[in-house]
Amino acid sequence: MKYLFAAACLFCSLQGIPQLFPPAAYPRNYFRNPLAIPMSLAANFGELRPNHYHMGLDIRTQHRVNLPVYAAADGYIARVSVEPGGFGQAIYINHPNGYTTVYGHLNAFFPALAAYVSRQQYRLQSWQVNLEIPAALFPVKKGGLIAQSGSTGGSQGPHLHFEIRRTKEDINLNPLLFGLPVADHIAPHLVRLAWYDRNRGIYEQSPHEVPVEIEGPRIAEGSASRSTVEMKTRPSLLSVGATRISFAISAFDTQSGSDNPNGIFEASLYEDERPVIGFQLNNISYDDTRNINAHIDYKTKETGGPYFQQLFFLQGYPLPTIYSTAGDGTGSVLDIGDGRPHKIRIGVRDTEGNETVLSFGVQYAPSSDTGGASSKDSMTTAVFPAKRFYPGMLDGLEMADCAFYPGERSLYDSVIIGAGVAGYPGSGLSLPGGVSAVYRIGEPWIPLLDPVLVRMRPVSPGDSLRGVERMDTTAVVMVGFHGASREVERPTWKNGWASARYREFGDFQLVRDTVPPVVSFPGAPEGALLNKASRIRIAVRDNLGATRHFRAELDGAWLCFTNDKGLDWIYRFDEHCLPGPHTLRVSVEDVAGNRTIKELHFTR
Ligand SMILES: [Zn+2]
Repeated sequence: MKYLFAAACLFCSLQGIPQLFPPAAYPRNYFRNPLAIPMSLAANFGELRPNHYHMGLDIRTQHRVNLPVYAAADGYIARVSVEPGGFGQAIYINHPNGYTTVYGHLNAFFPALAAYVSRQQYRLQSWQVNLEIPAALFPVKKGGLIAQSGSTGGSQGPHLHFEIRRTKEDINLNPLLFGLPVADHIAPHLVRLAWYDRNRGIYEQSPHEVPVEIEGPRIAEGSASRSTVEMKTRPSLLSVGATRISFAISAFDTQSGSDNPNGIFEASLYEDERPVIGFQLNNISYDDTRNINAHIDYKTKETGGPYFQQLFFLQGYPLPTIYSTAGDGTGSVLDIGDGRPHKIRIGVRDTEGNETVLSFGVQYAPSSDTGGASSKDSMTTAVFPAKRFYPGMLDGLEMADCAFYPGERSLYDSVIIGAGVAGYPGSGLSLPGGVSAVYRIGEPWIPLLDPVLVRMRPVSPGDSLRGVERMDTTAVVMVGFHGASREVERPTWKNGWASARYREFGDFQLVRDTVPPVVSFPGAPEGALLNKASRIRIAVRDNLGATRHFRAELDGAWLCFTNDKGLDWIYRFDEHCLPGPHTLRVSVEDVAGNRTIKELHFTR
């Protein structure tokens, strides 16, 4: 059984009040600021992002690129990665004390490392690389220059993404627990409180928001000591129409001298002064980061609401978790069926011990607000075949020409999921080239951990040609889409059925794509003289935006083009292109298998 509850974890603070989390025991002042300017954060560890927690610090670089980046401590360069998204260009340094530091979105590596990476890219014939580097090759000293900062990969502006990991388990740790020089005397801001009826599924209700306010003036910033802010609800005693409830909060944290809204470190809930449950963003692995979708109220966020961080966990939430509970863990649901007032205290803390405390009472009153269904509730279950699914369950829903099967670890909470035909080829919902109905499966606001298997077969109304026995499937792809999100998969085919896996519910359709990608050379006409150019740029456009293969050869030899952010492909002239006449041959393929080959003749 995978869904064991977290073991009790009670520790005592200096005041003798039981605490849910032990104090962090990481080395302090071992790592230095990796930049030469004062440390200011655009994002901290555990900040809430789509499908992941922020796994390090985003350190501001004064809106500039090419600031020198320094090794945070002695060690050796253990890994270098280059990719269109993610960290862009990144360096991993292993340190002798068992930690790894990561430096992302870099513009350039130091010259000897850059030359090494380039040689490996030509050896592997791939610009995108993930290179494990032998320990002896690039030892570094604390404060040694390793790179220039940038904004490569999944970055929206210049900054340095900095992580600290435990090397052995590859677990990311909160860097602010290592005593880095970031002053913070400001308590976190708690802006919303909500309760949920735990006799119902989390996706089958909306949060009940309760107004909160600060008691007395907020303590001014600037003191050298820790801040504490007291808050209360309005009214101070909540009457709720449910016997089993849980709470969630919206909160953010700021550091001294910065009003940037960062993530909170820790929140704990006490009932009648006994600790019940808390979460702490101390360590998270990349394997677990997607479970943020069961930490936040995913439905509320996905339907345009704010982030709520849950002071409870869901049935399908896999261990290890960021949560700690007292007793057997069932206390993450508060049973207030006795009808008496219960005293609740929620404390929100940052890594420096600044704290905001919200105190209120809650009482069951049968005639009160019961948490009825909201207007955001499912449309598909009302009009389509539907059934209830549970975490840990292996089941599916099968219709005439479409079926779906969540995995055992796909769902976090029980929920009714419906599916049916939302449109036919030629209708407004259909994608160009659609060769199946548009099937609507579930709701985009039901999060998936493991992907759901979607199967369907081509069919069109009034067409006697059904199935694929007489149909060419080579250029048929499956597209999952909702809102601006679109995912194109090359399906596997069996007995006329196409199958592919998706991590989001939405609309699904089979599409015949016979349009090859379009390749052009902006600024470099055929026969161009490029002796004064610094680079060659290749633009690739695909009708479905689904390119899966790119290769460029100069006079028959692989040539390294970069592809930062998945935009244009760029080659900067170097020793791989000497003066004289050349032939550049570019081959691009889309997910459907359509290929374009284009040549450019030029003189350097
Ligand atoms: Zn970052």
